[in-house]
Amino acid sequence: MPVPTTSRHRLSRRQNSEEIEDARRTQARRPADDVSDDDQPAPRVKKEKKGKKRAAANDDDDDAPDGGAPVEEEDEDDDDRIDVDNFPDQPLSRADLHKLKGIAQDWESMANQIGQQYSIYRDVAIAMAEAGEPDITSSADLQSLDRDMKEFIDVCAEMRVHAKSLDLLHQRIAQEEAVVEPEAIYESGVQTLMDEYAGKTSRQKYLKDPRYSEFQSSIWEVHHPEDPMPPLTEFIPREDGDDSDDEDDLEIGGVTQNYNCPISLTTLVNPVTSRVCNHSFSKASIDGYFVNRTRPLKCPASGCNKTFRHDDCLPDSALEKKVIKHLRHVATAASQDSDGEVVD
Ligand SMILES: [Zn+2]
Repeated sequence: MPVPTTSRHRLSRRQNSEEIEDARRTQARRPADDVSDDDQPAPRVKKEKKGKKRAAANDDDDDAPDGGAPVEEEDEDDDDRIDVDNFPDQPLSRADLHKLKGIAQDWESMANQIGQQYSIYRDVAIAMAEAGEPDITSSADLQSLDRDMKEFIDVCAEMRVHAKSLDLLHQRIAQEEAVVEPEAIYESGVQTLMDEYAGKTSRQKYLKDPRYSEFQSSIWEVHHPEDPMPPLTEFIPREDGDDSDDEDDLEIGGVTQNYNCPISLTTLVNPVTSRVCNHSFSKASIDGYFVNRTRPLKCPASGCNKTFRHDDCLPDSALEKKVIKHLRHVATAASQDSDGEVVD
């Protein structure tokens, strides 16, 4: 049986303070468990260890190379935390439910935070299209970017899989009271959900993802600023497992880009976009909508049933560029109509 030594303490130096605490408690307790090797009563050992650590902490301040940590953490030996390294199969009970929920939420918010960064792919796509790359079908560079964009969506999906597996574990503990092998259940949940995702077709993975749709429409709009984009199904070939006439699919794409604010019903000015539902508004309109309100409100875009807060609306410079381009195009078309030549 391995006997914990100070090397364990040293290892834990870079871990967070909670883990360090746990490691210490183990050290303090271990000799009491190993009665066969050592007959010393636990309280004395504990005291001894504490004494040593105090000395170490005093010697070298907070950054003692042997892992000495602030002294004030010493007095929390009473609550029973699970020592992950030594009790991997410690059952989880209802008392742990809120922790699981917290970790699941961490995965979700990480997926949300990172998921926002899709705009990098969109902006690069726009820049490449503006530099002359025609479309994904005929540009190897755009194809490569398209693969990266899809991989990015896959990574976000994987983060959500972790959250979902924790949710499933959460439900199970809520029903069964104590689950003996939570780690194994969590891992197998992740595996099952990842297999499920891997089994999906490209259309099932990306067709309804607003980020992918925006990625595609951004490229389209560079070359066809006034024409509606064809349905996204034209850009994602049908695979085995896709319905040939899925009506849901036909609703995606094919919508004329609308540059009006849903509140003012006039062309967007200083557009901001809700990160919850991707609807965009003129800044002044949405500021007015949320005036004196900090709680979430229903999205003012018609047909949208999402709610969000004022600070979920972020400035959208990519959209602003499109609006400016659109206005320029309208002006150009108008001047062409009036005197027959292009004014830019
Ligand atoms: Zn909305």
